[in-house]
Amino acid sequence: MGEPKPPVPAGEERVAIESEHLAAIVRSSDDAILSKDRNAIITSWNDAAERLYGYTPDEAVGKSVAIIIPPERRGEELEIVERIFSGERIEHYETERIRKDGVRIAVSLRASPVHSPDGEVVGVSTQARDISSTQEALRLAEQRLEGTFEGAPIGIAVVSVEGGSYGRLQQVNSEMTRLLGYTEEELYAMRPDEITHPDDATAERALFDELVAGRRSSFGIEKRNRHKDGHWIWVSLTVSLLEGANPARVAVAHVFDITGRKRAEAELERTRQNLERSNAELDQFAYVASHDLKEPLILLSAYARMLGERYADQIDDEGRTFIAHVREEAGRMKTMIDDLLDYSRVETRAEEPVRVELAEPLGTALRTLAPLIEESGARIDVQGPLPVVEGSPAQFERLFRNLIGNAIKFRGDAPPTVTIAVEEAGDDCVVSVADNGIGIDPAKTQRIFDVFQRLHSQDQYAGTGMGLAICKRIVERHGGRIWVEPRPEGGSVFKFAVPG
Ligand code: ADP
Repeated sequence: MGEPKPPVPAGEERVAIESEHLAAIVRSSDDAILSKDRNAIITSWNDAAERLYGYTPDEAVGKSVAIIIPPERRGEELEIVERIFSGERIEHYETERIRKDGVRIAVSLRASPVHSPDGEVVGVSTQARDISSTQEALRLAEQRLEGTFEGAPIGIAVVSVEGGSYGRLQQVNSEMTRLLGYTEEELYAMRPDEITHPDDATAERALFDELVAGRRSSFGIEKRNRHKDGHWIWVSLTVSLLEGANPARVAVAHVFDITGRKRAEAELERTRQNLERSNAELDQFAYVASHDLKEPLILLSAYARMLGERYADQIDDEGRTFIAHVREEAGRMKTMIDDLLDYSRVETRAEEPVRVELAEPLGTALRTLAPLIEESGARIDVQGPLPVVEGSPAQFERLFRNLIGNAIKFRGDAPPTVTIAVEEAGDDCVVSVADNGIGIDPAKTQRIFDVFQRLHSQDQYAGTGMGLAICKRIVERHGGRIWVEPRPEGGSVFKFAVPG
């Protein structure tokens, strides 16, 4: 801070210092800088010039600049010298030079006049930069671009834009010719809209108009194109505009064959419609079953009752037992029909999914089962907070009711204990209902989830064999799965996994 400033040099001394600075800049420049006089004799030559052309300053200074100029470029050089002497500067031009070892190099040049102290032009200074590597890089980039264009797994086409519409195809890659079945030459004589399906033409036209009007920078559409052999192929097309230097604008189209996907989508749609139809049929069947089948059943039961009452004195004990069986079986059949109806309604009467805190349907199920829980002396243990899932609260209530009901129904000699717990498994949450009951033969664990499948007779344990089939349908409708595992200490653990 307290350093005294060096005295400001004045006059000639300052000029000498400045030219010393300039000389240092020229010497250390990365550009090859040389100067020559009016007769094209080299008067200065920096280190970069030596590196670029291969001549030392001693070899170059005093020689004609012709030593580095290809013979066919000498006229051009003379003209440039002329122009500089008449006061012009030449900012940038690309030409060729020859190195001492005879190799030609591409250079970018600037030329400017050298003035004498009194302002007269006495020479030309040129500054050169080797652009051989840039040109090589450009050539490689072009080659790579060409390779990418040709080798691309999607069809690429360049198409001219004439009067706001598609003009002719100007360039296509081989995938495009494969996709459409035409040769390159055939395509160059065509306009893209000639092979567009009439039903897709209007939509594409509207998008193209918006593109040309500058309201969008690109557009995408799924449409049909006619293959040369006449069949239609589905493609996903993306089009964007390239503003060329030429007045005509060009568009670039990327085309991707989606025929396979469209076919699969159509197949899926057909399957969905079939499923909807069979669901509707099932619903219809369930409706018919509930009304038309239940009515004769009720009558059957009523007639059996009347038979027992009216002819009481003519029927013996065995007859009364038979009548009781008829009424029981009629009642069981009615329950089976109701269960089948419930099974069909899991799909057909499904309401929109909502957020379900599983603790709520569980609570409702436990309240419904309260008489059974009390009568059996069952202990119910709910471990940890239950998760929140998406779905139908009524169906989750049914799921818990069936699983906990079974856990109590299929009890052994010990008082029933039912444990409801939760575990995380990736994105799914797994809820388990474990019991200390009679357990299940591992060979039969798949069967029990099928419609009307039971492992026990009516007189052992009452039921229709529909409970677990309904559970499975509910869980699968929620995007999950259900299974059973043996409990190591005896009993079974039913588990269901649903997206959490
Ligand atoms: P249902 O209970 O009406 O028989 P389900 O579909 O609910 O019909 O069950 C099918 C069969 O699976 C039952 O008959 C029974 O044999 C077996 N099962 C279901 N739950 C249990 C359980 N917790 N413990 C032992 N066996 C079971």
